[in-house]
Amino acid sequence: MFDTLSDRLTAALQTLTRKGKLSDADIDATAREIRIALLEADVALGVVKTFIARIKERAKGAEVSQALNPAQQVIKIVNEELVGILGGETRRLSLAKTPPTVIMLAGLQGAGKTTLAGKLALWLKKQGHAPMLVACDLQRPNAVTQLQVVGERAGVVTFAPEPGNGVGDPVDVARRAIAEAKHAQHDVVVVDTAGRLGVDEELMKQAADIRDAVEPDEVLFVVDAMIGQDAVTTAQAFQDGVGFSGVVLTKLDGDARGGAALSVREVTGQPILFASNGEKLEDFDTFHPDRMASRILGMGDVLTLIEQAEQAFDQKQAEKAAEKLSSGQLTLEDFLEQMLAVRKMGPIGNLLGMLPGAGQMKDQLAQVDDKHLDRLQAIIRGMTPAERADPKMINGSRRLRIANGSGVTVREVNDLVNRFFEARKMMAQMAGRFGF
Ligand code: GDP
Repeated sequence: MFDTLSDRLTAALQTLTRKGKLSDADIDATAREIRIALLEADVALGVVKTFIARIKERAKGAEVSQALNPAQQVIKIVNEELVGILGGETRRLSLAKTPPTVIMLAGLQGAGKTTLAGKLALWLKKQGHAPMLVACDLQRPNAVTQLQVVGERAGVVTFAPEPGNGVGDPVDVARRAIAEAKHAQHDVVVVDTAGRLGVDEELMKQAADIRDAVEPDEVLFVVDAMIGQDAVTTAQAFQDGVGFSGVVLTKLDGDARGGAALSVREVTGQPILFASNGEKLEDFDTFHPDRMASRILGMGDVLTLIEQAEQAFDQKQAEKAAEKLSSGQLTLEDFLEQMLAVRKMGPIGNLLGMLPGAGQMKDQLAQVDDKHLDRLQAIIRGMTPAERADPKMINGSRRLRIANGSGVTVREVNDLVNRFFEARKMMAQMAGRFGF
């Protein structure tokens, strides 16, 4: 996502960095490049026009700054304006003063609503809430079962109409669900509603009826970022038909050009609350306009990386490993633990993609392979605890046994063991030098 846009914007801005002083003509030329980049990324025309006009106006009228050179000033302006069209401040979910908070999901079929319900439930649960999912998508065959499955995976209760009563009334289901949530003390209720392949009146009416019945604290419009320009028209239709208080972008992991993400907030005036970037329940997070902007401009997303690392790493375990490292006592067991912690943060390519300058390392990143890590993990798991603790004892016959047990070649086992020793030696030296 955003790769081409990011490349083009970076290129447009890089030509500036070579200049000491910027003329109006320089600014116009850069603005033209940015305009093309945005249009190619499928950003709505109106949004592009406003954006470019603001950049030009601000860049030409910029005060002479002591701290920044003219090029840096333009980059700063573009960054600020990008943050602006993405919504400015991070908008958090608003919770009801008296529970339950009711969150209703609306959007086209296939937008990712049901998946999102599971993601949201897991996310809420991790924050100490007791969410309940409600199946009000009674149109699509299997929608109820699908919600029950994601609910189970997230470890939360799903309220659904009893099977065998024909197609139930979603408004009635929604009402009963709220009563049940109060009774069973669920503090957040997530209502999944039906979607259609295209916008139609009946769909809007049903969604509006459910909205009136449950009086939601948030109506979240769920939109597939891959649908490009259509995202904007769909968003407008839902805004007129049901109204919503926030947007969730899904499928940001796809290779779409990203225009939806950049247009929807500006066009509807409603903030983007969450972003989804994969099919797994964990592939989901709060949307931060500032971080997204710096990612688009190729400045990396160090903040997100740090946050994810904080969540994935157990501080004590990390300290223990650091201690062993400095004394050259790191075992394969520690190595495996660290590797698993890194894995918890997501696919390795995604992680590296958040680092500053990663845009220019794309080819190398493409070669970082999660499957390779899986194999390393399989090899270490194929060792006995004694072997992991003291890899020196892994002789030829042990290597053969480990290779057979984990379905790899002896050469791969050799590679891992040799590299481990090398790394251990090197890290001990480094630890000595840097004093950690
Ligand atoms: P609904 O009809 O709106 O309820 O949509 P679903 O939740 O059934 O999702 C439609 C399809 O999109 C499913 O195959 C999901 O696995 C997939 N999907 C949902 N969210 C994402 C996402 O963020 N990334 C990717 N790649 N696929 C997703």
